[in-house]
Amino acid sequence: MRTREGDGAMERDAESKLYEGKAKIVYATGEPGVLRIEFKDDATAFNGAKRATIAGKGELNREISALAFEELEAHGIPTHFLGRLERRSMRVRRLEMIPVEVVVRNVVAGSLAQRLGRPEGEALARPVVEFFLKDDALGDPWINATHAEALGLASAGEMRQAEALALRVDEVLVPWLLERGLRLIDFKLEFGRDAGGALVLGDEVTPDTCRFWDAATGERLDKDRFRRDLGDVTGAYREVLRRLEEARA
Ligand code: UDP
Repeated sequence: MRTREGDGAMERDAESKLYEGKAKIVYATGEPGVLRIEFKDDATAFNGAKRATIAGKGELNREISALAFEELEAHGIPTHFLGRLERRSMRVRRLEMIPVEVVVRNVVAGSLAQRLGRPEGEALARPVVEFFLKDDALGDPWINATHAEALGLASAGEMRQAEALALRVDEVLVPWLLERGLRLIDFKLEFGRDAGGALVLGDEVTPDTCRFWDAATGERLDKDRFRRDLGDVTGAYREVLRRLEEARA
């Protein structure tokens, strides 16, 4: 292990970059089956057409995601989370990721409002689960479970399990957040297979991937502040973390 570097990122000799995405970098570690995920300050929207660096976002997202994974694990939902590392990183289990985005919606917003012509903010009578193919070049098209099976991305059983797990995640997160004054409007999950082939929640649970509205005022405390130029993105993310931490103290 080498020394601590200028901005706090601790580099390990055995580490190699496996993948760099829009908001995270994934490194192999010296430990078999364990990865390090570093959360970046970079943000993109509209399939990469809009880009910015949001100071402090990486650190805030690492901690928000860590707290969410801990809450989910406490309710028996398997996640890749193993622990915190230096301020913008976490240790995770290595998974074979399934290239499908699983979106859960409690309230109409974003692309659903446009697709179905319903007003944003309309409560759904039950949570809706949708699947999207992870493919930037195609703009992440909407697919169903049989597409995933037919394209060899996941088995029918895995898709059923992904849907069931996503709904359990919703059941855990909705009351947890509401007690902290946050309404969970919708969110995106990604699943992978662990070494034994079991389905595990990977990726992140952050204001980049969830819509959080202030329960009292409806103020948006998530990435829509960036997508829609509402200002003070960092302040909104900091407010989400403050509420999650305050409740723990
Ligand atoms: N989402 C995401 N990554 C994507 C697309 C969507 O994390 O590539 C999240 C988004 O933050 C929201 C939910 O999934 O919480 C539903 O997004 P929607 O389909 O409404 O798309 P958007 O309006 O964000 O384009």
